[in-house]
Amino acid sequence: MDHRARVHRAQRRVPARIPHPGRGARAARTRRVHPASSASAASRSARSIRVSRANGHRVAAPLDSRCSLGERAKLERLVTPDTRLAIVGGGPVGLVTALIAADAGLDPVVIEPRATPIDKACGEGLMPGALRLVRELDLDPPGAPLRGIAYVQGAKRAEHLFAGEGGRGVERTVLHATIAARVAQQGIPVVAGRVDAVEQHDACVTLSGPGLEPLTAGYVVGADGLHSAVRELVGLTREPQRASRRRYGLRRHYALAPWSDLVEVRWTPDVEFYVTPLGPRSVGVALLGPRGVDFGTALAAEPELRALLSADARGESPDQTGSTRGAGPLLQRTSARTRGRVLLVGDASGYVDALTGEGLRLGFAQARAAVSAIIAGDPHGYEREWAALTRGFRGMTSGLVAAARSPLRTAIVPAAVLLPGVYGAIVERLAR
Ligand SMILES: Cc1cc2nc3c(=O)[nH]c(=O)nc-3n(C[C@H](O)[C@H](O)[C@H](O)COP(=O)(O)OP(=O)(O)OC[C@H]3O[C@@H](n4cnc5c(N)ncnc54)[C@H](O)[C@@H]3O)c2cc1C
Repeated sequence: MDHRARVHRAQRRVPARIPHPGRGARAARTRRVHPASSASAASRSARSIRVSRANGHRVAAPLDSRCSLGERAKLERLVTPDTRLAIVGGGPVGLVTALIAADAGLDPVVIEPRATPIDKACGEGLMPGALRLVRELDLDPPGAPLRGIAYVQGAKRAEHLFAGEGGRGVERTVLHATIAARVAQQGIPVVAGRVDAVEQHDACVTLSGPGLEPLTAGYVVGADGLHSAVRELVGLTREPQRASRRRYGLRRHYALAPWSDLVEVRWTPDVEFYVTPLGPRSVGVALLGPRGVDFGTALAAEPELRALLSADARGESPDQTGSTRGAGPLLQRTSARTRGRVLLVGDASGYVDALTGEGLRLGFAQARAAVSAIIAGDPHGYEREWAALTRGFRGMTSGLVAAARSPLRTAIVPAAVLLPGVYGAIVERLAR
């Protein structure tokens, strides 16, 4: 998709005006987080987005600097920051935020430096709750059914089949392309650029970055992932974890027929492998482990998985496709999720670990909560909702990571085998 192309805005509900933060919400004073240009916020807003009408649709695109002053003045009347929501980061959570915002009558614009479809190291399992939220947006990305989760360690295997509707394994680029196609269809502008400055005013926020025309909006949602620049710029990043404690993720794809319709979590003494069916001839293998972990070395220590992935052993070919992708450190702590008119969603809002495969479900639920809070003019309401949405994930995932790092590590799978009711209850709690 060409981010700089003009895009058509499809029919919308009557746009809502973005209200000012409500009582009790701390309206931000003008706070320069990064040196910004001297132009007024309003004229920056007009300059950054060009809006015209074609065939009854609004057309929005970054405005180039050759626009005449008269045209800018005209645009300034058409585009006000009142309904504009700027979303920094066009990963799955940023794009879903844009769809929900457009549906709620806001005027979203997404800023993303990378071209669609965007790949990322991920286990690529849409757990039942994530799939439900995706379906609520009338999206149906193709993939492979997921019926449950198996924990495997040597000959020990604990399985839990999801009680209700299952999940789906979906290649990351397929998921991203599916959401991005809907965003384009809805006429939501995606501007190519990387935000590196956030300037908060009483009634709006201005974003800028290299190659990015300054853009003013009523609110900003930071959906820019694990290493969120927005989080850092508004001062919501907490101190990082000690280097020796950090965990990282790697992912590879194999062009093989899946041998199971469960996500298999294979526990070795040092790492966990996540094996996810993704399609008739596609299996994803994600690995979680310490800094410097090498995929090939870790796989060599798990001969059963290595054999299953080996083309020779299965009479299939070829095996690995594409490159190995990495992400981390996984633990990202935040002091709060809202500052003034900036709200954080997805990995940008804080992340514990991929061990429980919940990032997308939580990110999509946060997107919905953030948009509701913006419509209500109550960003602090989002803070409460974020805490409620993530409580289970934070508690259980932190506990499991702590156990995985302790001498109890080798007892996790045997305990799941011995206590299937407890194991099943935990999987259900996390997957919904
Ligand atoms: C190994 C591993 C396995 C996982 N397995 C699963 C799983 O099975 N199921 C699951 O649900 N979750 C899983 N997760 C978590 C999941 O991948 C994340 O929670 C999810 O990708 C978060 O999406 P996001 O849109 O918040 O962030 P991202 O997908 O990281 O998107 C952020 C976007 O922001 C853009 N960006 C960054 N900086 C800027 C900037 N300054 N300006 C503008 N744009 C910017 C980036 O280019 C990127 O496109 C896993 C994670 C890992 C690491």
